[in-house]
This record gives sequence, C-alpha cells and structure tokens, in this order.
Amino acid sequence: MGKNYSSNPNWYKKDPLLRIYLLYLVTIWWLSQNRSDIVVKSCSQCHILFITSCCNQQRNNIDCPFGCREVRKKLKSNERSIKYYQDPLGKKKKQLINQKRKINEQLKPNNTISINHIIILYLHKILTSLWQFPQTLYLIESIYNHIDAEMRQHSLYKNSS
Ligand SMILES: [Zn+2]
Repeated sequence: MGKNYSSNPNWYKKDPLLRIYLLYLVTIWWLSQNRSDIVVKSCSQCHILFITSCCNQQRNNIDCPFGCREVRKKLKSNERSIKYYQDPLGKKKKQLINQKRKINEQLKPNNTISINHIIILYLHKILTSLWQFPQTLYLIESIYNHIDAEMRQHSLYKNSS
C-alpha cells in the first residue's frame, strides 16, 4: 500500500486500494489479537490504522509508515535547515560546504563506466540467470579479475594487446 501513498486524507479508502485496505484491516486486527507487545494506533495525519510497539500506547502523535512519517521528517528537516542557515554562523558554514562540494565535483573522475565493469555486469546477469540463484557482483568480479590476470600471463593474450 505504501507505494500508492498520497498525502490526501483517506488515501487508502479510494479505489483501487479499498479492497487491499479492508484485507489489511482484517490482517492487523488478527495479528494484534492476544498480543501485549503491540498496539494498533491511528496515524496522526491520515488516520490509517497500523501496528506499532506497545511503548507507543500513550502517544497520539505517531505517523504511519506508509508515507506520513517520511513527509513529517522532511518537513522538520527543512524547518531546521532554514532556521540554521538564517544564522550568520550557519550561512558561513553553508558557504564552506558549497565550496567543498564544488571542489569535490571538479576533482571527481569522469563518470564513464569502464568496459570491464559493463562485462562484469553482463556476466552477473547471465550467470545469475543460468545458475538460477543470485550471485554476488563481488563474486563475479573476483572470477573475472582472476581470469583476466591468468590471461595476461598467457603469450597469446600478451601479443594481442
Ligand atoms: Zn498516515
């Protein structure tokens, strides 16, 4: 349901979420039965019910994890940031941060991806599909680098490059 979150009130009571919402209500009701470690609370923003820890029993300002929590966090962060950077010390610090960022961007190597990396990504995709379980990119990269190092020792490979 979270990916369909909207800041509009009752976002979860509209189609096509209504059916999922009703199943969700039954599920959280069922999960919360005879459990003392969890409580069902209503979101302070959109009023959707959700399960939370029993330590939040007395709180009435809890936001749901479907989007309201993130929205509030961003708002608070923006408020703090605006307040901080209005202060002369904060303005000076922001200037320094911007200067550092500019220097780092100039020093950053070109963002082109090496052909080796493209080959490793391709091998990762193929081998994961062939072996039918996910391989770590690190493993594929290790195998590729090992083979590459072995090939560099071979006389035919030396002559071709
Ligand atoms: Zn909410």
